[in-house]
Amino acid sequence: MDKNNKKINKPKFNSYWIYGLVSLFFISTYFIGGDNSVSASKNINISSFEKFLAKSEIKEVTVVNKSIAQVTLKRDALNSPDHKNANSTNFLGQKNINGPHYVFEIGNLELFQNKLELAEKKGIQFNYNFKTVENKWFDVIIGFLPLIILVGLWIFFMKRMSGGGGGGSQIFNIGKSKAKLFDENIDVKTTFKDVAGLQGAKEEVQEIVDFLKNPTKYTKLGGKIPKGALLVGLPGTGKTLLAKAVAGEAKVPFFSLSGSDFVEMFVGVGASRVRDLFKQAKEKSPAIIFIDEIDAIGRARGKSNMTGGNDERENTLNQLLTEMDGFGTNSNVIVIAATNRADVLDKALMRAGRFDRQIYVDLPDVRERKEIFAVHLKPIKTIKNLDTDFLAKQTPGFSGADIANICNEAALIAARKLKKSVNKQDFLDAVDRIVGGLEKKNKIISPEEKKIIAFHEAGHATVSWMLEHASPLVKVTIVPRGQSLGAAWYLPEERQIIKPEQILDEMCAALGGRAAEKVIFNNISTGALSDLEKVTKQARSMVTVYGLNDKIGNLTYYDSSSQNEYGFTKPYSDVTAQIIDQEISKIIETQYQRAIKLLKKHKNKLVELADFLLDKEVIFKEDLIRIYGERPFDLKKSK
Ligand code: ADP
Ligand code: ZN
Repeated sequence: MDKNNKKINKPKFNSYWIYGLVSLFFISTYFIGGDNSVSASKNINISSFEKFLAKSEIKEVTVVNKSIAQVTLKRDALNSPDHKNANSTNFLGQKNINGPHYVFEIGNLELFQNKLELAEKKGIQFNYNFKTVENKWFDVIIGFLPLIILVGLWIFFMKRMSGGGGGGSQIFNIGKSKAKLFDENIDVKTTFKDVAGLQGAKEEVQEIVDFLKNPTKYTKLGGKIPKGALLVGLPGTGKTLLAKAVAGEAKVPFFSLSGSDFVEMFVGVGASRVRDLFKQAKEKSPAIIFIDEIDAIGRARGKSNMTGGNDERENTLNQLLTEMDGFGTNSNVIVIAATNRADVLDKALMRAGRFDRQIYVDLPDVRERKEIFAVHLKPIKTIKNLDTDFLAKQTPGFSGADIANICNEAALIAARKLKKSVNKQDFLDAVDRIVGGLEKKNKIISPEEKKIIAFHEAGHATVSWMLEHASPLVKVTIVPRGQSLGAAWYLPEERQIIKPEQILDEMCAALGGRAAEKVIFNNISTGALSDLEKVTKQARSMVTVYGLNDKIGNLTYYDSSSQNEYGFTKPYSDVTAQIIDQEISKIIETQYQRAIKLLKKHKNKLVELADFLLDKEVIFKEDLIRIYGERPFDLKKSK
């Protein structure tokens, strides 16, 4: 199928013979120097040995390293049929008179020696020696280390040459592109119909489809066809799907490869793979090349890297840029790359004529989630009027891939229960399972622990219910799942800008669990770890990232061009560091006290809710309304 493959057969010259040669060498030294070759002798157990000894068939016993005994038989014993399995010929097929013929593990040395002494007393004659053998392999390897290094270096340079030498990759076949080729009409059946939501992104890639279908329409007027588009979005948001749909719509072949596939240990391989990929694609043009995780090769060059291991990545990136610049405007190959971190990419990638189009693929909103559900529910047998609005509302922050996963999981759950169709509860169970992991039915929780958990979760629920800006609650559970012992679930509003009062309310709600433990038991526990982690992060980013703190003021220590948060050194002085720490702890303490105050005020309801939770294990919004009454803020909003 591939022209290059034929060429490979011609020179019978590949790396295997080198490895073969080296191993042959080792094997032969092993046998030739093998007068004490332990593993070449037949293994027996100690009782067989005692039998042979009693029959006086043994000429010599040598204990090696105090653990293994090598046994050499007397010459006439060797001819007996009892010993036809013994190691009686050497590797050249000659009669092995010198032995050793058997080996066995002696177990306790003292006991073994006692046995030998006993035999000696009975008048049985044999020789008995001791010896210590160091690890033979180790010796051999140390002895030949220089040679191994030389051979290794030689292979290394051969590979390097083959990588950099223009099509020379035939020698080792490592530089071959691993791209899977999805041939036009056969494989790419994906179309825009399979991509739900993503309206904006679809419109933008529609143009690429037009280019591929009808290039002359654009080139006639002197326009240049774009060479690349960059899809930017979180994992699972449908970037691969979209790229495939472009190929499917334009009916062109689709080459897909992940950025990390380019980067291997050997120098020059990445660059040669890039070259090969583009060569194949050009042969099949018009075509689409899809490079997933382009950040694996496309990270900004020469930035804060002390390992020095990045030359290979840079070479690969350079080769990619060269290829993209190189192919003429009429080659009709379009490169679509995907990443979730456009900010770390090398600016050179984004220059005109390369990935000059950036298309953002966001997490779906409620409406889009409903559409994605619709796509993935098609093959699933559900009950008649399944409420997809409800499902979409229950899954904020879920990606397309998560939703596909939920649909599948729900079908499996229903099947496990031998149902004829999948209902709403199955979907809710699937959501729970995907968010929280498997329900731990047999996790042992003492009644006392359970009570603490119930009050902790009831604390979250109560505080968030009482605060205007905290996210509304969806459900509270004390069913242990995965790592968590209980959980309060909120419906976060989908918002782009967050106001300080919203962050503070959310922090207060997150501290509500621990505050409830304090108010009820006058005690706190380790159960609030993840709450504390979340709150600390939020407080820190208020102070150091978003400029929301009076003392620190309107500045940020965030650096979008840096790969780690602050680079290697903190961008502020020690004095500022102290202020930051103080401010963070002040923010958190204030919210904690606020939560305590709230819970003290509503202690009766907190107890009522916790008792109800202990009884029911899972409670929903309706139960909270029953206990607390409607949230006043929600009423205001709906007016
Ligand atoms: P990415 O490449 O962004 O990580 P994928 O394209 O591989 O994500 O998406 C994984 C799967 O999730 C797809 O195969 C598809 O089943 C589902 N999916 C994601 N987004 C959508 C969408 N917008 N419409 C339909 N299915 C989607
Ligand atoms: Zn908590």
